[in-house]
Amino acid sequence: MLKHPVQTKARFIRFASELKGKLYPQSTPLKSLTVFSAPDRIPFAEAMKGRYKPTHTDLTFGPAWSTHWFKINYQIPREWKGQEVMLYFDSSSEGCVWSADGVPLQGLTGYNWGAEGFRSHYRLTSNARGGETGTLYVEAAVNGLFGFDPKHLDTANKTGHLRKAELVTRDSAVWDLLMDFIVIKEMAEQLPGTSTNFGAALRAANDIANAVVIGDSSSYAAGRTIAKEFFAAKNGDRVHGVSAIGHAHIDTAWLWPLAETRRKCYRTFSTALRMMDKYPEYKFSCSQAQQWAWMKEMNPRLYAQMKAKARAGQFIPVGGTWIEPDCNIPSGESLVRQFLVGQRFFRRELGVTCREFWNPDVFGYSGALPQIMRGAGIEYFLTQKLSWNQFNRPTSSTFLWEGIDGSRVLTHFPPSDTYNAVATVDDLLRHDTNFKDNDRASESAILFGYGDGGCGPTEEMLERLRRMKDVAGLPKVTPRAPAEFFPRFKANIVEPIVWSGELYFELHRGTYTTHSECKRDNRRSEEALHDVELLAAIAHLTKKARYPHAELAKVWELVLLNQFHDIIPGSSIPEVYVDAARDYEQILSSTTKLRASALAKVLPESAGARLAAFNTLSWPRREVVDLPSGKGHALLEAPAYGYTIAERVSKSSDPAHVEQSEKGFTLENGLISARFDANAHLVSLIDKRHDREIVPPAAKGNQFVLFEDKPALYDAWDMDIYHLEKRKSVGVVTSIKVVESGPLRTKVRAEMVVNAKCKMTLWISLDAESPRLDFEVEADWHETDQFLKVEFPLALRSDFATFEIQFGHVRRPTHFNTTWDFARFEVCGHRWADLSEPNYGVALLNDSKYGYACHGNVLRLSLLRSPKSPDPKADMGRHHFRYALYPHEGGPQAGGVIPAAAAFNQPLRVQASSKPVANRSFFSVDNPGVVLDTVKKAEDSGDLILRFYESHGAHQEATLTIDGKIAKAARVNLLEEEDAPIRAGARQIKLKLRPFEILSLKLDLQMNA
Ligand SMILES: [Zn+2]
Repeated sequence: MLKHPVQTKARFIRFASELKGKLYPQSTPLKSLTVFSAPDRIPFAEAMKGRYKPTHTDLTFGPAWSTHWFKINYQIPREWKGQEVMLYFDSSSEGCVWSADGVPLQGLTGYNWGAEGFRSHYRLTSNARGGETGTLYVEAAVNGLFGFDPKHLDTANKTGHLRKAELVTRDSAVWDLLMDFIVIKEMAEQLPGTSTNFGAALRAANDIANAVVIGDSSSYAAGRTIAKEFFAAKNGDRVHGVSAIGHAHIDTAWLWPLAETRRKCYRTFSTALRMMDKYPEYKFSCSQAQQWAWMKEMNPRLYAQMKAKARAGQFIPVGGTWIEPDCNIPSGESLVRQFLVGQRFFRRELGVTCREFWNPDVFGYSGALPQIMRGAGIEYFLTQKLSWNQFNRPTSSTFLWEGIDGSRVLTHFPPSDTYNAVATVDDLLRHDTNFKDNDRASESAILFGYGDGGCGPTEEMLERLRRMKDVAGLPKVTPRAPAEFFPRFKANIVEPIVWSGELYFELHRGTYTTHSECKRDNRRSEEALHDVELLAAIAHLTKKARYPHAELAKVWELVLLNQFHDIIPGSSIPEVYVDAARDYEQILSSTTKLRASALAKVLPESAGARLAAFNTLSWPRREVVDLPSGKGHALLEAPAYGYTIAERVSKSSDPAHVEQSEKGFTLENGLISARFDANAHLVSLIDKRHDREIVPPAAKGNQFVLFEDKPALYDAWDMDIYHLEKRKSVGVVTSIKVVESGPLRTKVRAEMVVNAKCKMTLWISLDAESPRLDFEVEADWHETDQFLKVEFPLALRSDFATFEIQFGHVRRPTHFNTTWDFARFEVCGHRWADLSEPNYGVALLNDSKYGYACHGNVLRLSLLRSPKSPDPKADMGRHHFRYALYPHEGGPQAGGVIPAAAAFNQPLRVQASSKPVANRSFFSVDNPGVVLDTVKKAEDSGDLILRFYESHGAHQEATLTIDGKIAKAARVNLLEEEDAPIRAGARQIKLKLRPFEILSLKLDLQMNA
């Protein structure tokens, strides 16, 4: 070898390419090829009834999203005896090979979609007898790995193109030599020129190129001998150990609808199964119970193969959740159910409990998660998404993540910063250099395999891994299942770093707001399920009705499905939101029916002059309600988790009243006085109880503002920090009218022009006896690249604001001191955000929003965005939402913000009644900081599950009182398994909770009708 490494490396590219050219030396046409253009995505049985017409290669077929079934009859030539024979079928689309009796065999990804995921060969036999005949079908879907991003592709002209349909032989000697050569070549290309291993790789690859005459198969053995000697040089004792976990990240919906995902699943899973036969060391991790359930429903025979390989330890369920959920928007109970429903599925179907939460691609991780994971049998957490952070990269690959309650979970970010590694030398070296904890650990995991339409790992990836297993110069890489990797990694790490609190994602902040109808429907669905479960549990206990277990399970599955990390964040194409709207309609219609029927059982009368009201919250409440007739209001008081039946009260000792003048209007009761100018800006808000003016001098609250919203990269996902620099105050009121003037409710309606393409109607109201100032908006929104928020400057000073998250809250800075602070220029909050001084504060409540910002003393709620990709119509049209300002004494905990926000979202359920019975509280807790959040029937018995959480962030004691007799009580985990029996009185249980603790009890109860 002459000393010219640059030229030497250059020759390798041509050598590899020419060698590859000899891989498929022979070809023969198919015996026959026919096609049937299907009307839709149809099952195999239906496709068999189609009228198939003769066709030929070079056929083009479309349009985008259509499906075409090809029927293939073949005969292997007699002279191919002993050869490896493949079907070579490239339709420039996503395909699936089916057996003639209807089992998916393997996915195909066509040429048009680039080298990434390109997969066009299906192996018929590794050792032909010669003369075999057979029939196969290929279901070709005119879409790509990533659907069609409307911004980048002209979908109307998109077609499939049948480039190849023939049988070929594969030369196994060429294949083996090629795989050897590629790995050595990549080492010569990628290793630092100063390393001995680089030099050895350069020499070995060059020696192969000199020894092998391409086309002369008798020379190949010499090449392989050189490779064998090279690979014989092993690593030393101290080396980075990498567990290679096969995976295909299949987005449950994104740039394609759910129906296409089902097909992506069987294409991918059948591919993985085929490869397991050839590569016994191959282990494929398959997350998202929903995707398993689809296979069970759609193709039981494929599903049986998956289960068999699961038993064999190769096809491995991971994650424990129903889908890989967004972790910002779903409620605490929704996250619990992701695990409950997911883990129960895996246990029932496969006898497996997942020990790892697998969520590599989600836009931020709530500080409530560590506790939820631990409660659901999870010990480990895996993601990599924070490697996308804009300002601050994670400083550890392996650490203990501590949630807001102190629960800890051992967490791993695969150092290669991807869930789609392709197992090249480059991948492994990057993985090695990115590993941030080599001072305390030497084990890590790499996830390899094409996601979405790419059908997971390829044979080439597995061949590379075989060769890279233990070779000097590369980390030691071994195919392992998560269940093998995680305990190994736990035993290996010394002194893991602790990260406390949320794992905020410094990107995709627009997903708290985009597609706001989905977020609203999700909130309403979660509340409806909460109410139905509570009311149905009471009806079941009082023996008035059976618990609608099956119906609820179905509804929950749909709710959980739509919390997928590209559905509820708003980052999918229009078709996905057509499906979501249909699902939410079904969810809300069945829960409305279930709630009404359970309520009718619990409150048996629905006629008469009195009012019956059920309070489905954990706190007693007294408030103004709308009458069931739709006319007028009443003031009602209802106990916690119970009902009141009362005379209609339409007066109050502290009535609300309104005054209107040319300058504006004032809403007032004995607690607050709110003065608005003629543009409906809040110019003064006096809290009479504390003699405090809440609006700073010359400031205006309820100010609508538009920001130019042109993110640099991902429209639906992102808002970038510079949007804050292009702010415009908007909103001109064209008419104001007092529509209700007390005594129980005052209400003003204002018509407002926001901008050229946005008008809104705004109602502002104040009730008797309440310090809460309500705002209701109906907006007609047709903007482009505009972001609407409403802001409230407050006469308060604090260096942090508080935001509700699942089962608790978090504090975030109100300043931009450091990059970690300003990275959080937009944050996720649930029903409330709060700016408080120690003795006084103001909360901004909402009924359906999740994006907040608090800078200095200005609290902002994000209302509507208008991104144009991947859904050009996202958020266009009519919207209805509510928010409220809630001034209070003390901080958010002592100030009662948590019950106020819950009450703002979940009204008392009121109906007419004639029965003069006493109030009844079924469950009550004597400490307002301890929230009884969920009451449901246990999954596997007639017992009741009561789930509490400590909401103040403090150690607390409380007494639970039940209107019934407790026969047996136990503490259970989130999977409803008994942790420990607890002492209970006849009707009471004493509870002790640590800050933000989630506590679930299982009770055997008797309750009188
Ligand atoms: Zn994803």
